[in-house]
Amino acid sequence: MISLLFSLMACSQLSRAPAAFSAKATKHVVFDIDWTITSEVDASLKGKRIIEVEGKKYFVHDGLEDFIENLLSKKNIKISFFSGGSKSRNHDLLKKIKIEDGRSLEDVAYKILNRDDLTIVEGSKPTDKFVQRYKKDLRKISSDLDNLIMFDDAEHFVLSTAQEEHVLVTGKGFHHFDSFNDAKVATGDYVPRTYAEWSFARKKLYILNGAFENALENSELNDLSFSETIKAQEQYLNLAGGEWNDYSQKMLNKLVQNKTVESAGCIGLMAPFLKI
Ligand SMILES: [Mg+2]
Repeated sequence: MISLLFSLMACSQLSRAPAAFSAKATKHVVFDIDWTITSEVDASLKGKRIIEVEGKKYFVHDGLEDFIENLLSKKNIKISFFSGGSKSRNHDLLKKIKIEDGRSLEDVAYKILNRDDLTIVEGSKPTDKFVQRYKKDLRKISSDLDNLIMFDDAEHFVLSTAQEEHVLVTGKGFHHFDSFNDAKVATGDYVPRTYAEWSFARKKLYILNGAFENALENSELNDLSFSETIKAQEQYLNLAGGEWNDYSQKMLNKLVQNKTVESAGCIGLMAPFLKI
């Protein structure tokens, strides 16, 4: 029922795609790095998903490899990364994250853009804040913005309000906590305050993977604009609120259902983790 509702909403609000948007057109999916796919953690932290890059440690967000593998399974999608980090940091970090076939995210990337690729905002002063002075120009990935979507935790980090229409803002990021019990005793602005807030943040890339899949199917079936259909997921999932809703639970389960079909063996292992 809810999917019918969302399909109807999508059909009534989103624009029909002209021929250039056709399912065959090359689509670009661009990821920010910090607080979107990895988060810097305390130097003392150890674990399977902790990587060390240029003397700093990062937690690799749960579900990242699944999301990348899902994108790679599509014929006409190119994956890029655009981060304000240095070139050497970004490459070293992406080199350390491997997908199932042994390739790294650096290997599978179409483009990796760095601090040197940021555009200085005209009229800004050296004393201005970093995000006010430097912006990401998405046209450096592709000039066909209708077939491009960027996932970024930061709002207003692209060059213009027109480019913001091609950014799905993933919402507030939190420091990494292995369990909510660890978060309960921590203090600061980036500490989840409720179990739901913690679990929503931890499972965000799984949810986004499901929502991306849903939106892509919708845009291809109904001939809707790729970037508009994906961008619309930001509101459906209430990413700004960071709270679970029926749709985000459904999108998390969409992945579980896909996994069941693809590999019945995995589901038993994944089910307890994916349970909200
Ligand atoms: Mg970021």
